Amino acid sequence: MAADPDCLFCKIVAGDIPATRVYEDERTIAFMDINPGTRGHLLVVPREHAVDLLSVAPEDLAACTRTAQIMAARVSDKLGADGVNLLNSCGAAAWQTVFHFHVHVIPRYVNDPLQLPWQPAPGDRDEIAAAAARLSE
Ligand code: AMP
Ligand code: ZN
Repeated sequence: MAADPDCLFCKIVAGDIPATRVYEDERTIAFMDINPGTRGHLLVVPREHAVDLLSVAPEDLAACTRTAQIMAARVSDKLGADGVNLLNSCGAAAWQTVFHFHVHVIPRYVNDPLQLPWQPAPGDRDEIAAAAARLSE
């Protein structure tokens, strides 16, 4: 199993740093975030080290997505969450601070304090079309 000796989440996977684990399987583990955005906020990581979304093995990405789905059901059933956000930050510009791929499972509650990080407003149609043209090449 590939691990990075300097990686915080590899140390958690190995059990060298304590974490409050809530789920484990062959490819993934889930543990509580120490700075929760809401009650029950947890992280899903692959056991194998990968820096981010762009480099994680597709099998580990699929396994993490499935674990996130399982935990989304649990926060709904057991904590009474009214909804769930899954969040992945890929790259420092996208707020990534720990460079071992992870998916945040963030339980949402009616009237919790979290807010969308952007103001929805109609975009420039030409700019949208130009981006779409590049993306579909
Ligand atoms: P990100 O900023 O998307 O890379 O997410 C990293 C997350 O890891 C943050 O929400 C931190 O609160 C969380 N975190 C950092 N260190 C630990 C730790 N030792 N145990 C649990 N969560 C941690
Ligand atoms: Zn790692």
